[in-house]
Amino acid sequence: MELLFLGTGAGIPAKLRNVTSMALKLLDERGSVWLFDCGEATQHQILHTSLKPRRIEKIFITHLHGDHIYGLPGLLSSRSFQGGDSEVEVFGPKGIELYLKTSLSISGSYLKYPLKITEIEEGVVFDDGQFRVEALLLDHGITSYGYRITEADRPGTLLAGKLEEAGIPPGPIYKKIKSGEKVTLENGSILDPSDYLGPRQKGRIVAILGDTRYCENAIRLAKDADLLVHEATFAAGEEAMAHEYFHSTTAQAAGVAIKAGAKKLCLTHISSRYDRHASRELLEEARGFFESTDLAEDFKEIVLPLHQP
Ligand code: ZN
Repeated sequence: MELLFLGTGAGIPAKLRNVTSMALKLLDERGSVWLFDCGEATQHQILHTSLKPRRIEKIFITHLHGDHIYGLPGLLSSRSFQGGDSEVEVFGPKGIELYLKTSLSISGSYLKYPLKITEIEEGVVFDDGQFRVEALLLDHGITSYGYRITEADRPGTLLAGKLEEAGIPPGPIYKKIKSGEKVTLENGSILDPSDYLGPRQKGRIVAILGDTRYCENAIRLAKDADLLVHEATFAAGEEAMAHEYFHSTTAQAAGVAIKAGAKKLCLTHISSRYDRHASRELLEEARGFFESTDLAEDFKEIVLPLHQP
């Protein structure tokens, strides 16, 4: 599992930072990629990476401001010509369906694959047993969601030696135990899988938030997360301006990470008023509040290693 930043700027594209998009690479986990937001020229950014558009399985939109969605119709259209024939599901606030259907239909775009559009509300928006995605409302003037992606725990490794010691020869019983099933033997005794499995491997948690002011739901979404991606449109000390424009400062993003007990924070949605040097200062400033902070850059990738059992 890796998170690849495709655009990390605020509002308008700049030479250093394109508008918002990021790809959660789940290639080892499910052979696919999930996009979060799709600002203009996201498909051009993808050309500079090893991402395959046909691998895009789901797209989660945080909110409908242009710098988060203007790249969507183009990316979806091009995917038809890039070998994409599997379904794509787009999740987003109310309005995303009208936006997509209108732009695709009046441009005469025909997709060679099924497109499913789900307008979300707060709560669990996706759960297939392997991953669960929950959304909560943030505070951004228009409807803006944050997403919490939780990977299911993996069962512990089978303690085959212990089963053999108990006189159980390898066979279908091992498979049942491995999948966590209780097994009743012919003699009536019951095998409890927890006795024959190593410790469970905890799943990873990533919180990816849309634009927002400092708010309680951000803390809920990021609770104990391995990684929190939070906007930091302004420097610490600019809280009044952040409030006025429904954005956050570095200090506020760090405050969310601390209160949530997140392990790592990555700041994104950086205003173009901060050049390379000034954005280093933003990072140093945030690290003063929360040590484990990183600053997103276009094409930067954060690896989320498996937890040790
Ligand atoms: Zn916005």
